[in-house]
Amino acid sequence: MTQRRSEYNMLPPFHFFHWRVPVDCPVCKNAMIALELAEVEVDYCTACGGIWLDAGELEFLLADAEQTKELLDSFKIDSHCTEKRRKCPICLKRMQKIIVGPSRPVLLLDKCPRGDGLWFDKDELQDILNRAKLDKDNKIQKLLADIFSG
Ligand SMILES: [Zn+2]
Ligand SMILES: [Zn+2]
Repeated sequence: MTQRRSEYNMLPPFHFFHWRVPVDCPVCKNAMIALELAEVEVDYCTACGGIWLDAGELEFLLADAEQTKELLDSFKIDSHCTEKRRKCPICLKRMQKIIVGPSRPVLLLDKCPRGDGLWFDKDELQDILNRAKLDKDNKIQKLLADIFSG
C-alpha cells in the first residue's frame, strides 16, 4: 500500500499537461499570466499591462470575418520607425513595427516577423477594437476595462 501511494506522488503536477507554455513579457521580461478573454486564452503582463496574442487569436476575438480581414489588410510595416524594437517572446527575433489603418494618431503594434503573434502595449488592444468598431456588443472592451481598472 505504501509503495503504491508513493507512485501516485511521483505523477507530474497537473499543469505539466497544459499545452500552452507561458511566455515572458517582451517589454519587462516578467512571466506573463494566461488570461481568458472572450474564450480566447491570451498572455497578459501584470507589470506593464501589455497583451500578447498568438497568431490567429485576434481573428478569434474579432467576430466579423470581413471586417477583420480589412483590418489585417491595413497592417503596414513601418521600416522607418525609431521606436525601440522588441523581441518576439516566442522566437526572440526582433519584431516589426506595424501601422494599423490610416487613422491618426498612428497606432503601432509589434508583430513577429515569423508570424508567431502580435504584441499590444497597454490600451492598444482596446484602441484597435474601438477604432475598428469590430466588437459590436463591446464584450471585449468591457472585459479589458475590467482588467485594467483592477
Ligand atoms: Zn510587461
Ligand atoms: Zn516569433
